[in-house]
Amino acid sequence: MLSVARTALRRGFATNAAVEGFNGAVGNTPLIYLKHLSEKTGSRIFGKAEFQNPGGSVKDRAALGVVRDAEDQGLLKPGGTVVEGTAGNTGIGLAHVCRARGYKCVIFMPNSQSQEKIDLLRMLGAEVHAVPAVAYENPANYNHQARDHAKALPNAIWTNQFDNTANAYAHYISTGPEIWEQTRGELDGFICSTGTGGTLAGTGKYLREKSNGKTQIWLADPPGSVLTSYITSGGKLTERSGSSITEGIGQGRVTDNLATFVNDISGAFTVPDEKSIQMVYELLDTEGLYLGASSALNVVAAVELALRLGKGSNVVTILCDGAYRYQSRLFSKKWLESKGLESSIPDHLKKYAVL
Ligand code: PMP
Repeated sequence: MLSVARTALRRGFATNAAVEGFNGAVGNTPLIYLKHLSEKTGSRIFGKAEFQNPGGSVKDRAALGVVRDAEDQGLLKPGGTVVEGTAGNTGIGLAHVCRARGYKCVIFMPNSQSQEKIDLLRMLGAEVHAVPAVAYENPANYNHQARDHAKALPNAIWTNQFDNTANAYAHYISTGPEIWEQTRGELDGFICSTGTGGTLAGTGKYLREKSNGKTQIWLADPPGSVLTSYITSGGKLTERSGSSITEGIGQGRVTDNLATFVNDISGAFTVPDEKSIQMVYELLDTEGLYLGASSALNVVAAVELALRLGKGSNVVTILCDGAYRYQSRLFSKKWLESKGLESSIPDHLKKYAVL
C-alpha cells in the first residue's frame, strides 16, 4: 500500500497532508454511503464523490494523468499548448491543469453538449471549438479535429484521452487504491459507465488485482452505446444506434483504455434514460445529492448489481459530477417534455423541476 501511496504522491494526486495548488487537490474524494438506497436493497451501496474534485468531476484525475505523462516523456514543454477532444469534463480538468502549470488549452467538443460546460471552459481561459456532433468514423469528428489541430500547431500536444492509457493509469494509481482502502477490501462489486473507459479500466484493474479476482467489475451503458452488446456477445461489435440524455458516457468502439481491461469485465447491462432521470431526482430528494445524469445512471446500475450479487453485498460506483453543469436541461420542465421524460418523474419529485 505504501508504495502505491508514494507513487500517487509523486504523480501529483492528493494525500491527507497539505497539498499544492489545483493538482495537489485532485483525488482523495470521500466514499459516500447511500443510506436510503442501501436500506431499500438490503445491501451496502457507496458512491465515490468525484464531484468533489477541484475541477468538479472524475475527469480531473485523467486530465492530470495525461498532462504529467506528457511532461515526463518530454512531449510537453514550458509554454506549450494542450489540445483535446472532449464532451466537456476532461476539457474542464485540462483547462484547470493548464492554468496551474502555465500551458495554453484548446478544446474541441460536440455542439450537442450543455451550454454550461462551454461557458465554463471559456471562463477558464480555454479556446473552445464547438463543432457539429458527428460519428467517430467521420473525419470532422471533434476528436480527429483536435488531433489535426495539435499537429499543425508548434509546441502543442494532443492528449488523446480515449486511446492514451495514461488516462486509465491515473485511476489505477489513485481511484482504485482509494476505494480499496475506504472499503477495507470488503468489496463485492464495482460498476460504472464509460466514455473513454479510463475510470472503469484503471479502477477495475486495481480492484481485481487486489482482491485476487473476488471483486466483480461490471460495466453500465446508456442507450445507444455498443459496449453492453460487445461484452455480453463475447466480443462482437455492432453499429451504434439510438441516443441518451446522459452526457460524457456511451461509446461506439473499444478504446485503447477500455481494451486494457475489457476481457476481465464480469458483465454489462444498459440503463434506460427513464430510470437515470428518475434517479437524478431521487438522489436529490432522499440522499441530498445534486448530481448529473451519468452519476444517476451509475447509481441505478449499482442498485441493480447489488440485487444480482445478493443481500448484504458491498457495491461501489462513481458519482462523476454535479448537476450544476446540466441544470438548464435536467431541471427544466420544457426540456424534460421535449425528451418525453416528464412522465418518468414521480409526482412527489416533480417539485424539483423548477426551471
Ligand atoms: N461521466 C461524465 C459526466 C463524464 O464527463 C465522463 C467522461 N467523459 C464519464 C462519466 C466517463 O468517464 P471515463 O471517460 O473515464 O470513462
